[in-house]
Amino acid sequence: MPAPNQSDATQSATSLDVSFRAQLEQAEQARRKGAINDAIALAADALASAQAAARPDLVALAQLDLGNLHRYVPNALESFRLLHAAEKHFRETADPLIAKALARQGMTLGDMGDHTRALDLYREALGGIEAGDAVTDNALAATCYGAIGVACTQLDDFEQAEQAYRKAIPLYDATGNQESICFVYNNLAILRIRTVEKMNGAEIGHADRARVADDAFAFIEEGLSRNQQHVRSIMLTGALQNSRGNLLAALGRLEESLVAIGDALSAYREMNLPRGIVDALSNLGETHCKLGNLDQSLQYLQEAEVLVHQHQLKDHERKLQQLLAETLEQRGDAAQALKHFKRFHQLETESQRHDTQRKLQQLALRAEIEQALAEAKRQRERSAELAASNQTLDRIAHEDALTGVSNRRRLDTWAGNQPAALPTGFAVALLDIDHFKKINDTHSHAIGDAVLREIGALLKSQARNEDLVARYGGEEFVVVLRGVSGPQMAERMERLRAAVERHDWGRVVTGLAVTTSIGVAAADGALAFRELVERADTALYAAKSAGRNRVVTAA
Ligand code: GH3
Ligand code: MG
Ligand code: MG
Repeated sequence: MPAPNQSDATQSATSLDVSFRAQLEQAEQARRKGAINDAIALAADALASAQAAARPDLVALAQLDLGNLHRYVPNALESFRLLHAAEKHFRETADPLIAKALARQGMTLGDMGDHTRALDLYREALGGIEAGDAVTDNALAATCYGAIGVACTQLDDFEQAEQAYRKAIPLYDATGNQESICFVYNNLAILRIRTVEKMNGAEIGHADRARVADDAFAFIEEGLSRNQQHVRSIMLTGALQNSRGNLLAALGRLEESLVAIGDALSAYREMNLPRGIVDALSNLGETHCKLGNLDQSLQYLQEAEVLVHQHQLKDHERKLQQLLAETLEQRGDAAQALKHFKRFHQLETESQRHDTQRKLQQLALRAEIEQALAEAKRQRERSAELAASNQTLDRIAHEDALTGVSNRRRLDTWAGNQPAALPTGFAVALLDIDHFKKINDTHSHAIGDAVLREIGALLKSQARNEDLVARYGGEEFVVVLRGVSGPQMAERMERLRAAVERHDWGRVVTGLAVTTSIGVAAADGALAFRELVERADTALYAAKSAGRNRVVTAA
């Protein structure tokens, strides 16, 4: 009962496909809502069902998504393992998704602080989606360029970062992703702000600093106006205003900075983003402290402290405790200042311990990644070698070694694949070298071979890709063209005959002259290829009888 079984299998494969994709889609929605654990559970379920059904294609898709989700946990090792397993499958099946698997591995490495290796992976991913100058996946290419920008910023290579961001913009534009464009403008502004901060430290001329700052303002304006026109994201407003505040603070325009950070704070409050709120409050507290508004400063910092405890934002707390200690010290409240300073010191020690642990994990993961990357590289090299040697074998099997044109086997295979009657438009020519025996006898067999090689080269140089040129045997060649009439074929062969006659044969050996005779036959929709060759052969015989060095078309 093979038939019903087969249809059952097809049916269950389809319903598996549908539920599998639905599950991954749900996982993606959960991720967007910030419900990472739910997203992981859904994607892990999808992976398990793909494994149970022995569907390596679906397994790889689930690994690709689950690997991405593990970045948020964060569990870099698991993320990398999954993405790498997916990459392996995509590589084996030459699936273009390989670029996505590479880009995501890059992001995992970036999370771990390995920006150099992350860059390599982004660039490799881009190589896969940029065939020549054309990009085949704009969204992924944009993501890669954006990620390259972030990695280069981390590596302090601002120039490369800027170049990458500028490439990302038109690609995001092509996919209609205005939101990401706004983030890119914000990142471009942040690059400039970092430069302004560096210039402050280096006491560089005011004019230069003002120029860089103007660029930053322009990027922020562009981001804000696009956001207002196309996106209307409060999150973006917050991020861009926050950058503006930082820029103004770097320029020493503290009052204005307060206004911008205040706008950012409102946006973050509206979005209910504790990290953003704490950042903005700390920022406001710090600036007010600089302005000498100590009470105001303390108010912001204490509000931030409540949130930090409420949401357990330890990484934010450290800087906050330091700011609290400084403000209280300035206010002359040494006892309170000491309390906050102790807490700051405790957090600092904890964070160092944490850093050490992270470093250990990083090194262990690096060792594993190193191995995985080396293996992937070997795999790539092996498949490239295999492809090259297959090509060589193919060439050897179908090419005539002496003349470089197709061999008889190739011709016979081609002929075997033709219909019983060749349609009109096909034309065949048989070419035979005149008095070739004499050439062999007068000079040598080696010179005869050299003549055959030159004729082969002449034939190849005149042939188009779709033409078939083969050595038929000894010193006879077959040319098959399509899309030509009999007279056109005769004309083409006449040019070939003249080219052989004109050829500088003296270069082969002094005094040598070579001519050819050619018989032509055109298909009429009734003859088989073999019959067409017989006709061409008859025409060739007629050419020889008529005195050689000429083209004759079959009647
Ligand atoms: P015709 O003008 O009537 O064609 O006279 P021909 O001397 O060319 O006569 P024919 O076509 O019968 O001679 C073919 C010769 O080509 C016979 C053989 O020795 C020589 N030959 C065939 N294959 C090769 C080869 O691979 N190298 C060399 N040097 N000679 C070959
Ligand atoms: Mg012959
Ligand atoms: Mg001959």
